[in-house]
Amino acid sequence: YLCSSSAPGEEEPHRPRRSENMASHSAHISSDKRFLIFFDFDETIVDETSDDMVVQAAPGQYLPDWLKDTYQSGRYNEYMQRVLAYLAEQGVTESDIRSIMEKLPATPGMLTLFQFLRTRPPQDFEVVLVSDANTFFIESWLRRTGARQLFHRIFANPATFNKDGRLVLRPFHSHDCPRCPNNMCKQVIVRDYVARRTQERGRPYQRVFYVGDGANDFCPALSLGPRDVAFPRRDFPMHRLITETHEAMPGEFKAVTVPWVSGEDVVQRLRKLVAE
Ligand SMILES: [Mg+2]
Ligand SMILES: [Zn+2]
Repeated sequence: YLCSSSAPGEEEPHRPRRSENMASHSAHISSDKRFLIFFDFDETIVDETSDDMVVQAAPGQYLPDWLKDTYQSGRYNEYMQRVLAYLAEQGVTESDIRSIMEKLPATPGMLTLFQFLRTRPPQDFEVVLVSDANTFFIESWLRRTGARQLFHRIFANPATFNKDGRLVLRPFHSHDCPRCPNNMCKQVIVRDYVARRTQERGRPYQRVFYVGDGANDFCPALSLGPRDVAFPRRDFPMHRLITETHEAMPGEFKAVTVPWVSGEDVVQRLRKLVAE
């Protein structure tokens, strides 16, 4: 079940962006946290899919059929490129897109969960975001809500505006996992991150947590161990895949599973675990 990257050198391309000044705040976060917690973004942190919501910037707030008809299964990233090119041609600007992202609603209880993480003692949580959305959408929302500094790292598809004002996406990396879309396997990201940080710290984390909702959050959760906790959004694909795996292949999925409806459900479980 373990995935590997076919191009490990590409996992963290150097991406100079103006956000690096803000990100540098977290560069000297204490490297000695007890717990590591990963978050997905779409339908986990925000209660929408950012790629779907960007369509609101289009004239009439819909995409023409000829464009929608170009979608091919397994080629989602390329399709999004065409959508973003169309928006630019229609005169949609960076600030139009940013203001749509800034208005995405947080998932119920998620801001309470962030507040909990923020107010824990500094040695408790290292917080990492891993998303198949793009850096521009995610950072727009995080800055607006003041949550950017909570995150030690953000792994997402790099996105920058070119000179024609079009948002251009790049695939995050390449990998050989058959379960995941060709631009991103979150298990490769999670395993490499945990391995590298464990080596830097010289000791393992007490526990690793993963909060997600989608089918592509199942793959990274498979790499968690029996002391770790997977938090799948209740009745979403990640939850369904965990349940199916428990039935079909008992023992394959090792992490403790705590389904959530609200971020407050996650807080409740974390409160118990940090008190141990
Ligand atoms: Mg998601
Ligand atoms: Zn995978």
